[in-house]
Amino acid sequence: MSDPLETYLAYQQRSASASADAASTEPSPTASAFAGADAAAHAAIDVRVAELRPRLEGLARALHEQPELGFEEHRSAARIAELLTAEGADARPGAFGLDTALHATVGEGGPHLAIIAEYDALPGIGHACGHNLIAGIAVGAFLAAAPHVERLGGRLSLIGTPAEENGGGKELILRAGGFDDVDAAAMVHPTGGDRPSPVGGQRTTGVRRVAVTYHGRAAHAAGAPWLGLNALDAVVTAYQGVAQLRQHILPIDRVHGIITDGGQAPNIVPERAAALFYVRSGELDALRALTDRVVAVLEGAALSTGTRAQIEVDPVPPYLPLEPNESLTRHWARALQRRGRIVPDSPAGPQQAGPSTDMGNVSRFVPSIHPSLGIGSPPSVQPHTEAFADWTVRDGGLAALADGAAALASAAIDYLADGALRAAVDEEFAALGGRYRWEG
Ligand SMILES: [Zn+2]
Ligand SMILES: [Zn+2]
Repeated sequence: MSDPLETYLAYQQRSASASADAASTEPSPTASAFAGADAAAHAAIDVRVAELRPRLEGLARALHEQPELGFEEHRSAARIAELLTAEGADARPGAFGLDTALHATVGEGGPHLAIIAEYDALPGIGHACGHNLIAGIAVGAFLAAAPHVERLGGRLSLIGTPAEENGGGKELILRAGGFDDVDAAAMVHPTGGDRPSPVGGQRTTGVRRVAVTYHGRAAHAAGAPWLGLNALDAVVTAYQGVAQLRQHILPIDRVHGIITDGGQAPNIVPERAAALFYVRSGELDALRALTDRVVAVLEGAALSTGTRAQIEVDPVPPYLPLEPNESLTRHWARALQRRGRIVPDSPAGPQQAGPSTDMGNVSRFVPSIHPSLGIGSPPSVQPHTEAFADWTVRDGGLAALADGAAALASAAIDYLADGALRAAVDEEFAALGGRYRWEG
């Protein structure tokens, strides 16, 4: 087990220097040293998105009305493919060995930028994460940017990725080689409120699932309890141990769990009991260190109850911490500003904890952007609520759909048009450690 203190001291040092950097530089969020594509091309994108808007809104509404869970997005993927095909792009579900993944592409060779779509929903609350808007934004951006690819050179793809919420579809596509010839990837995620995320403010945590099953010995809970080894006691001890650990973890760490099996009946000493924990962190090293500490707590609970712990940890986390590429995000922000949106300054200070996305895994493999855009909901209405699903198809959600599609298309053609921008994107990616795959 690695010494968490080393990881934590390194984190403290990085946070302090990040705060100092932010305080000393702080450029405007939309400033970029790179010209990108010409103004006429950006204007053409705005016109094309306006033309496509009724069909994109129709797609977002249709997905909202018939939400499908991860890996079951058959109707959604078919709808997206149908719209792409009707607009002259060849796309069929079933890419990368996944029934509900999609791939469409224009142009040849490099540079190759991939626009990423998601379209899975949440159980019971539908499109409460707004992936119906992500699909519309991605399709709109791909169709609006595609006519410019031949002139600019290189290649533009749309990659439809299943099961963001419950399966880490992007990690599966990475394993299938779907990103091997991609040079950069870009997507947009809706959020609550009416503002876009700051350029440097879209970091997310990585998450690793840790499942534990305790094996004890059954006995009559009143007749002969001394013969029993209580697996539920082990789960409860483990749960309490994780709660005690929680005080001493980093601000970028999270750990939370549920009891998935608590025994069969009160008059039987539980022979088997189980729990599932999500271990999260904003940094790779810290994610490894926290996993080790949680596993130690789970083992300790077995020791103290005389049970046996069977522990299963994701060998490769389906969600790694997101590392957004700032150089490319600036071009998204600049395009949004042209459409009248105000992009806030990046917050100074250390990385924050929060939710996770499988786009994190992509962002460690190729330079990626994953900015979010407010859908006009009141601050109390945030993702993963039924109210948020409802807001995705109101005026604010549909305005974010059009702005998101146009700004993403603009960022894509800037990337293809400007070799110096691409060099800056690659340099930033290399400075953060370059191409990375978690060794399971
Ligand atoms: Zn979500
Ligand atoms: Zn989401």
